[in-house]
Amino acid sequence: MRVFRFENEYRKANSYIIDYGSESVILVDLGGPSIDSLVEWLNEKSKKVGGLFLTHEHADHSIGLLKKDLLGSFKVYCSEYCGSNLSNPKRNFSLYSSDVPILDKAISFGAVYDNQTVFINGLQITPLHTPGHSPGCVTYLIGKYLFTGDSLIPGIPIVTQLPGGDKEASERSKEKIKSKINLKTLICPGHGPIVSGERYLSETHSLEWLQE
Ligand SMILES: [Zn+2]
Repeated sequence: MRVFRFENEYRKANSYIIDYGSESVILVDLGGPSIDSLVEWLNEKSKKVGGLFLTHEHADHSIGLLKKDLLGSFKVYCSEYCGSNLSNPKRNFSLYSSDVPILDKAISFGAVYDNQTVFINGLQITPLHTPGHSPGCVTYLIGKYLFTGDSLIPGIPIVTQLPGGDKEASERSKEKIKSKINLKTLICPGHGPIVSGERYLSETHSLEWLQE
């Protein structure tokens, strides 16, 4: 399994392609506003999209949905909260930014639930409900990869001041995510580079504890 990170122009949010040897790939988040580099990658490798998993509804992670048709037809998965606020420009915050178009297009979605594993062409995807940054935030565990969205970004404090944010919930979610991190984990956050579990644990002083 290989994971490719695409940094989007808008707020430098990450979109990820997960290539697991099937003719289709899985996407995690779809920022933008341009999705040209994703489309190009897919065309070059002759891959289809087998599904999109959203970490949350904020436009920097979802504005690419306006161009969804360029990627073919596939199902969007996210939490119920994310899905029901995805097309609401006040809740996805696209209303408040002049850098992106308004995201108000109705998007149908399949809801994911905490710890209820989803299989896409044999690929196992485990959603973990990690509220705090937004009530509907989900972290996805796929193999050794953890897609944390804005629920955990190594080295950066989590934003909980936005409407729907909850500092205490965020702290609990961070602990929940940390409990899934081991030396072999690769943390794929919503912003910034992919960070190894080993580096994360040593920088957060959890390594000695883990090795005891
Ligand atoms: Zn966000």
